[in-house]
Amino acid sequence: MKNFGKVYLIGAGPGDPGLFTLKGKSILERADVVVYDRLVSPAILSFCNASAEMVDVGKMPTHHKVKQSEINKLLVKFAQEKPGAVIARLKGGDPFVFGRGGEEALELIDAGVEFEVVPGITSAISVPAYAGIPVSHRGIATSFHIVTGHEKQEMQTCHSELYETKNFSSQVELCPLGRSTKGGVEESSISGLDFPALAKCPGTLIFLMGISNMEMISRRLIECGKDPKTPLAFIEKGTTPYQRTVMCTLETAGETILRENVTAPAITIMGGVVELGKILAWRKDLPLSGRRLVITRAAKQAGGIASRLTALGAEVIETPMIETRGVEPRVGSLDGTAADFADLSNFDVLAFTSTNGVDSFFELLFRAGLDIRSLAGKKIASVGKITEKKLLERGIRCDYVPEDHTGEGLGKLLASKCLSETQCASHSELYETKNFSSQVELCPLGRSTKCEVEESRILLLQGNLADDTILKLLPKATRWVVYETLPVATLPDWKREAVAGADAVVFASSSAVENFMNALKLPQSTEGAASNLSAQRPHLAFSIGRLTSATAKKYDFEVVESEETSMDSLVKKITEYYAV
Ligand code: SAH
Repeated sequence: MKNFGKVYLIGAGPGDPGLFTLKGKSILERADVVVYDRLVSPAILSFCNASAEMVDVGKMPTHHKVKQSEINKLLVKFAQEKPGAVIARLKGGDPFVFGRGGEEALELIDAGVEFEVVPGITSAISVPAYAGIPVSHRGIATSFHIVTGHEKQEMQTCHSELYETKNFSSQVELCPLGRSTKGGVEESSISGLDFPALAKCPGTLIFLMGISNMEMISRRLIECGKDPKTPLAFIEKGTTPYQRTVMCTLETAGETILRENVTAPAITIMGGVVELGKILAWRKDLPLSGRRLVITRAAKQAGGIASRLTALGAEVIETPMIETRGVEPRVGSLDGTAADFADLSNFDVLAFTSTNGVDSFFELLFRAGLDIRSLAGKKIASVGKITEKKLLERGIRCDYVPEDHTGEGLGKLLASKCLSETQCASHSELYETKNFSSQVELCPLGRSTKCEVEESRILLLQGNLADDTILKLLPKATRWVVYETLPVATLPDWKREAVAGADAVVFASSSAVENFMNALKLPQSTEGAASNLSAQRPHLAFSIGRLTSATAKKYDFEVVESEETSMDSLVKKITEYYAV
């Protein structure tokens, strides 16, 4: 293989982000380029690295955004132009189940590009499962068959080579009815189907992409002898908060699609197992089913409210309005002078107050040409358990973790470790609260010679928004600002699209409203091209309190305010609002 980038053909599963594979997620997190399809949900796209190049080749049912042959070329081009890059090709369901992943892989092989396949959960099986329909069931169905209800013309004309090797001509012979009798454009898109064999087959039939052709497919199956009363279900947008199941029989399939307005993406499943769905439908209609809500909190904080709204049935689009960025270390406040990693030897204790601090510090350490060995012999302090765990992942045990997991707790703990005779006078208050006399008894010498830590040799590694709590308790310590927290400047296109289609935005602060409206503005350069997207946003806002509401109203939101300034109360308000 040449020195190209590597392509990963990844299945994104049917929609529910919880059904995405761990392997797929870990590749997305480090992907440099992500080429994705329409059926991939925003929740899965949000696993991607913020700096990844996002390429939307999604297809709408009626028009192709990017032709398959162009997608193939695009993958090869990215791989050739970006040696060493990780290129994720993200597709709905499984890439090799009507996902054209095989065609892409053939093209990559031809071009000498290395690739891997990461299977996904196919909609063919998981969507019925979410509707309580097992595709096989003892005594009812001993096999199941996944069939395409729509085969593209493009595929038949431009891949003759593939068909030769697959002995396509024999398929033609197998399905003479399908090809010869009905003609026309629609017919040709299912001409590869062997209707007599399908009609005879006693197993469960599962059609993907078949909605627009289903009237014809059901007619042909009945003509070929399949029982018109065969139970049939359409499952629309399966595994998402918009999932809907419509049941009928083979003979009423066409009229049911029209009457119930069944739309893509939907699968069609036929056979006795469909009846089980009436008993086994386990997915309850939840209070927020079918609602898409934008959450504007920082990802870490959003976790709590996002998972609660998801559990209530909503599709949650996490759009944190602030982001953290590593910086060159600076001393003390943001306008301090640059710190130098050569100074690291001046410190005996490194104190971390966030996981971001840990990540940023190590990034800077590596960039300075150093590594973990320059920390040998130093004591490590962490504000709490999560930061402690992050350090442990890097092979570092913490020496100091306060019991109460706060900055104040950490400051006090470290202060108690650096007591000395001279400091004693200036820390009288501290000694009182820490019951210093007993410590003195424990280490009478310690006051002068044995203090564990020298205050001036403590280094705090913090973000630009950290307050001075710890520095006040340890005035001789040094602080390096190792990362910055800034408002998000703009939203990527996929997120704009997700926001445009949302029902409401949830705001937990006034600044989140301001940042959200700013981030919706398009960068000058793309203003003309995509201005229609920037205008599209929900006009309903759920707000946590008075100030937030006032700001939201300023931007023309219809505001629903929570009773109390708490997340509990806000979630309750959202649920009540949609209950009526
Ligand atoms: N590779 C995909 C299938 C791609 S073909 C897979 O393994 O699932 C696209 C078709 O898949 C759609 O037309 C629809 O029939 C089906 N499909 C995909 N996701 C679906 C979903 N969430 N609900 C219902 N049908 C879905």
